[in-house]
Parts: sequence; C-alpha cells; structure tokens
Amino acid sequence: MKILIVDDKPANCLALQKILAKPGLNIIEASSGNDALALVLEHDFALILLDVQMPDMDGFETAEIIRGNHETKHIPIIFVTAISKEQKYIFKGYDKGAVDYLFKPLDPDILKSKVNVFLELYGQKEVLKKTNIELKKANARILEQQEALIEEERIKVLLQMAGAKAQELNQPLASLLENIALIGEIKDNTAKTKECIYRMKVSGQKILDITKKINTMNYAEPIPSYYNSAAVVSFNRKIQILVVDDSEDVVEWFKAFLADQDLIVFSWAENFKDSFAMLEREQFDIIFLDHILKDGTSIEYLKNIDEKSIETPVIVVTGYGDEMLASKLIQLGAYDYLPKSRINTESLSRVINNTLERARLRKDVKKAQAKMAEMSTVDELTTLYNRRYFIEVLEGEFERADRYETEMALIMMDLDYFKKINDSLGHPAGDMVLSDTGKRLRRHVRKSDLACRYGGEEFAVILPNVRKDSIFSAYERFREMVSKQSFKYESKQFHITVSIGIAFSNDAESANDLLAHADQALYQAKETGRNRTVIYNTNAISVG
Ligand code: GH3
Ligand code: MG
Ligand code: MG
Repeated sequence: MKILIVDDKPANCLALQKILAKPGLNIIEASSGNDALALVLEHDFALILLDVQMPDMDGFETAEIIRGNHETKHIPIIFVTAISKEQKYIFKGYDKGAVDYLFKPLDPDILKSKVNVFLELYGQKEVLKKTNIELKKANARILEQQEALIEEERIKVLLQMAGAKAQELNQPLASLLENIALIGEIKDNTAKTKECIYRMKVSGQKILDITKKINTMNYAEPIPSYYNSAAVVSFNRKIQILVVDDSEDVVEWFKAFLADQDLIVFSWAENFKDSFAMLEREQFDIIFLDHILKDGTSIEYLKNIDEKSIETPVIVVTGYGDEMLASKLIQLGAYDYLPKSRINTESLSRVINNTLERARLRKDVKKAQAKMAEMSTVDELTTLYNRRYFIEVLEGEFERADRYETEMALIMMDLDYFKKINDSLGHPAGDMVLSDTGKRLRRHVRKSDLACRYGGEEFAVILPNVRKDSIFSAYERFREMVSKQSFKYESKQFHITVSIGIAFSNDAESANDLLAHADQALYQAKETGRNRTVIYNTNAISVG
C-alpha cells in the first residue's frame, strides 16, 4: 500500500516517515503541491497527508484540484497544519473534502492510529474490488453455460417436434401411396392418368424420404452437446451421488459405466421419504433422480426440494418418451436431465463434471454476494448509510468533537403511525414512503452530515460542527416538508408525518449517552402528540 506525504520542509517529511514506516507500506514524498498532483496521477494512494502551509500552492488548493479530478477524488486526505487551529480553517478543510485534520506538533500515536484506519479502509475496498471482479467473472461463466444449455434445449425440442410431425405425416402418406398402387392396377388407364400416377408416386416417395430422415435424425444423429463429447473426465476428490429410483439395479447400472472412477460413491434411496432423510444426514454432491417413483414424479420431487431449500443439484434420468419433459424439469430447478437411451461412460462423467462445476459457481456467487452485503455501508431501499456504518462513525465523531471542543448533534427520527400504511395499503406502499423520505432526508442534510437508516422506519443524522441555534429550525423545516408531501399509491392519496429528537454532544458523556438523549427527545416528541421536533435538554425539554 502507498501513502503520499506532502510537505515543503524535508525535516517534516522525514519525521512523518519515521513515525509511519512499517513493512508493506510504501511512503512517497512530495515537496510541493505541484509534485503531489503529478504523483497522484501516477500512483494509487491509500491516503494523502497534506501540509496546509506551503509556498506557491497551499494544501487547500492542492486538495481542491485532487478532489476535482474524477480519478483522484476518492483518495482520503488528512490535512497537517501548524497554525490554522481556528474553526474557520477547520471548516475550510471540510469544504475541500478533508477527511481529517491533524495539528503540529504531531502526536505519533494519534497519527499512527488515524493512518491505520485509512489503510484498513483501503484494504477493504481492494478486497471488495477483487470480489466484484470475481463475481462478474462467475456471472459471465454461468450466463455462458445457461445460454449453451438453452440452445441445446431448443435444438432438442425442435428435433422432437420435427419427429412428431414426421410421425403425423406417415399415416396419410402411406394411405396415399397405397391408393396410387390401387389405381395403377386398374386396366383401362389412359396414358395421361398413368403419367399422373407416376408423378404422384415420385412425390410421395420424396416425402417419405424426408420423414424418414427427420425420424432417424431424432434418434441416431448426434446432437451437438456435451453428452457426446469424447473426453472422460477424471475426478480428483470423492464425489457422493444419491440415486433415487425404485429399483436398486439402476445403481449397479451406473456403477458399471463408471467402473474406473473409484472416487465416485453411489448411495441409493427408494423413495422421496428415504431420500430426504438421507439428505439430512449426509452431504451429497449430486442426486440422480428417476422421473417416475412410487410416491410421485420428478416434478413433485423438485418442488419438494425447493420447499426444503435443499441445494444439492438434481439430474433427472428420463426414460424413452419422456424427452418432452426436459425443459419443464430445467425450469423447476433441475440442473440437467439425462435420457436413459443416451447414458454411457462419457455422457455420465461429463454430466457429473458439468454439474459439479455449475454447483461450485453457484456457491461462489452466493458467497461473493453475502460478502458484498456484509461489507456494504449502504441501505438499499433508501440509499442512505446503514446502521452498521452509522455506529462505526458515531463514536469517532463524538471523540473528535470532544477533542477539538467543537459541538456535534445527533438527530433521531421515526415516522408516525407508519404501520397503518403497511396495514392499509400494503408493504410496497410502505417501502415507497421509506425510500422517498430517505432520499428527501439525504437532500436536506449538509455535505458534512451523515444521514442513515437506523431501523425499519427510523432515521438518524450525525451532524459534526454544528451551530446549536440553527439546527432546530432546520429540522422543523424538514418535519414540515414531510407533512406537506402528498403520496400516491395505486390512486390512493395520503400523507405521513415524522417525529424528531435532537441531542447535542456537550450534554453527553459518551456516544452512547448522546444516542440515549436523542432517543429520549424522540420519545418525548411521540408522547406529546407526534409530528414535532424536540431538543433534549438536561434540565427541561423544549418542544416545537
Ligand atoms: P409510531 O408512531 O409509534 O412510531 O407508530 P408506528 O406504526 O410508526 O411504529 P411501529 O413500530 O408500531 O411500526 C413500525 C412498522 O414499520 C412495523 C414494520 O412492519 C414496519 N417496517 C419496518 N421496516 C419496514 C420496511 O422495510 N418496509 C416496510 N414497508 N415496512 C417496514
Ligand atoms: Mg414509527
Ligand atoms: Mg419505530
């Protein structure tokens, strides 16, 4: 990981180098704003430590340019300054997108811990990036396979339909040819009728040839598919296969085809009930399922599997004449189907390998999705930050306010009688209100504030560096705006109101304390009639 130190005095750079140096960290120095701008385009920095007072271009100007460039605007910046301790300079720093502020002389421990926070964040972002790439790759592969599978299905269905049509043609054709033969036997035929009969015979023969071709193509010609691929795949780990079939002979039949594959272990279940019991007890890689069983068909089996959330891939083994089922089975979640007439060593090992590969891909995608959800900081419905991120930030902001003796505020809000909307208009209507109100809140807060969805219909805002007297009116405005907003869902019009609680950091001992105060103020707002804003006060509570 790389960080950039920008300072016009070499002695300062050296001091920072000494404090921060550690294995795996590449510290790059710049002695002016201009040098820094060139370097940020060349390297991928996890963090920039930026001196404020520099000749030519100062730290603020440098930061402004870095923020202005699409490729560099995401790099976190910590301003390092000796003199501008006054509030207005701190504000200036935030305006330029500073994420933190450090004062000289630097406390090595504070510096190190701050820098580490950003390095860790950078590391997490990198992991996310990689996960994203993996996810995209896996998705593309699955898509490719699905397309191949769909194409294969399509060809199969086409051939089956063609086959069926050829069968239909056969009967009238046979009758036509028979009648031609009969007419041919009648003695007093003129030359002209003879000629006609001859032509009909030739045409009939041609049609017959075509129907024969279609029919034989269906059963004998190779379908372009992996069933016919010559390669026998060898497996490198134990593969557990459960065969669900009313006859145990089938297991022996499969085993015979895969005699060389001693890593494949077959188990047998006679019916639905036994198989589900076995799936609960043991881990299986694949289920080979017969289409017709004593307690139901494979269609019902697939539905059962879905209800029980069993994720073991199922391959349905179909008998002669069941081919038309294939697309239905795939739709119901079967990984594949295998006509009995097509089973041989190659097709079996191909289908097993393919299924294992696809199951692995599905698992990878699930894992990557879970990982992304876990690392996400955003609530999807409202696009506000989520509660996890809020909690993470709250403590740090409280400490910062404490240390720099600034004032921060915490606001908690809860929609009034929200349950009624769900109950009367349905959950989607409730979701619409949440999404809309969340977005409205995001537009309302200042750039440096952090708005989040705290719970179901609760929102919270962290406001660093506030002027106490301006907050109440700002959130009264928000409250009023919400109450005036008219919603429409399926032609029904309605309104919503919100109750708001405000607390300030200088009345609180800790971040938890602050949270409790904001909660109490919100409670008060609810108690005194809802649709109002209340400020927490150690002595008395002021209601608006
Ligand atoms: P109060 O004025 O006292 O706050 O009443 P309320 O009905 O707003 O509060 P209550 O806590 O009784 O109900 C909150 C409801 O919010 C219950 C829950 O089903 C609903 N809810 C929570 N999360 C979601 C969501 O994501 N979407 C929807 N549509 N509803 C949600
Ligand atoms: Mg509520
Ligand atoms: Mg609530």
